[in-house]
Amino acid sequence: MHATAGDAVPYCVDPDWAPYEWISTQGRHEGIAADLLRLVAERSGLTLRLMPTGDWNESLQAAREGQCQMLSFLNTSAQRRQWLTFTDPLYVDPNVVITHQDHPMVGDLTDFAGETVALPKGTSIEERLRRDYPQLRIVTTESEAEAFGLVSTRKADMAIRSMTVAVDSIRKKGWFNLKVAGQVPGYENLLRIGVRNEVAEDLVPRLNSGIASLTPEERVAVANRHVAIEVNTGIDPDLVWNGAAVLGGILAASLFWVLKLKTLNRRLHHMSRTDGLTGLGNRACLNAQLDQVRARLGRQGGVASLILIDIDHFKRINDTCGHQVGDRVLAELASRLRQVVGAGPGLVGRWGGEEFLVICPDMPQAGAERLAERIRQAVAETPFADGGHHTLSAGVSELTALPQVPPDVDAALARADQALYRAKNAGRNRVIAA
Ligand code: GH3
Ligand code: MG
Ligand code: MG
Repeated sequence: MHATAGDAVPYCVDPDWAPYEWISTQGRHEGIAADLLRLVAERSGLTLRLMPTGDWNESLQAAREGQCQMLSFLNTSAQRRQWLTFTDPLYVDPNVVITHQDHPMVGDLTDFAGETVALPKGTSIEERLRRDYPQLRIVTTESEAEAFGLVSTRKADMAIRSMTVAVDSIRKKGWFNLKVAGQVPGYENLLRIGVRNEVAEDLVPRLNSGIASLTPEERVAVANRHVAIEVNTGIDPDLVWNGAAVLGGILAASLFWVLKLKTLNRRLHHMSRTDGLTGLGNRACLNAQLDQVRARLGRQGGVASLILIDIDHFKRINDTCGHQVGDRVLAELASRLRQVVGAGPGLVGRWGGEEFLVICPDMPQAGAERLAERIRQAVAETPFADGGHHTLSAGVSELTALPQVPPDVDAALARADQALYRAKNAGRNRVIAA
């Protein structure tokens, strides 16, 4: 079979491998691979046609049987080279060792004989690890997420995955007890298009000319579209992970990361505690701060207050103006919260949905009530960028402790929640203290 100009070349993909690639509910090929492939096709004058499958194994089988002529994005392996010809790499991504944060750094995997490594099954790295590190115990999982989950819950010692996939999963799931413990040298993922040998002579040179036309900037921009956290205007960019710098580094020289592990772990840690939409601390971050406040008050005694905030009739904003406007209102509200609270000792984060929590160390309830009132005014008195006026309600409560008697944080949260409920019932746009 020959593919000539004009024929649409059927290709198969991994339908569930975000952020590299996936098939959307509309049946479209999406992700880093999809965007790169579109650029390559355009520049090599090829027309491609997605042949959707249910999973990666089905894609491999369809390619073996000739129902599709190419696989969009994969590593080479000895087994695969028997029936596929590979293009030049579309994308370079180092493999990193992800462990629990208490695990020692991993310079050389041979030092960790007997440890268990969780890997999604059927990946090329499994084939290579079994060959090069037979002393490791490999546990296969159904998905990437399951592999990281096993490490996060200490059921496996490590997972070995690509940097891009690891960063994406850790950010999405908030697995802040994981870290990057090392890089596996010589295990860069060089992701290529695999073409069936029968049509390789025809297709590979054309695809390679398209791949050669991709500039490093284009590759970084594509990767960032699918991995980076969006920076909303009005939000301090230092508070959000700079995806461009990280991925730029990966593409420029992956070994660079061996030296950069510390910075990288700091960033991962930061990302896992940052809410992607507002740039504020997320719930995990707030819980960690509450633990700290509780521990300090338990040692020394003292006082702190909590302000629980909920936007009024937020569902109406979504229903009448759409979710995107709703999202922008949340981001703008977060930036106003930061402006008001940032000037004082309080710590503000997104508690969930359209609820925010301000933790005010060393502040008695009366002070927190005044701070909450300033927040209420900063929101209610100035229209938002969407032109709308929005209001919020707040419930305030206090945490007190004598030395050696830690305060009950959950009870204080419950009191703030009850006060908030009363503020809603009393007509909203107000602050009520417990
Ligand atoms: P109330 O004044 O009683 O708080 O009314 P409400 O409509 O604000 O309260 P409710 O809790 O019923 O609705 C909250 C809505 O917030 C529902 C949910 O769809 C929306 N929401 C939660 N998280 C997000 C988000 O990240 N983006 C957007 N756009 N909407 C969100
Ligand atoms: Mg709510
Ligand atoms: Mg609400």
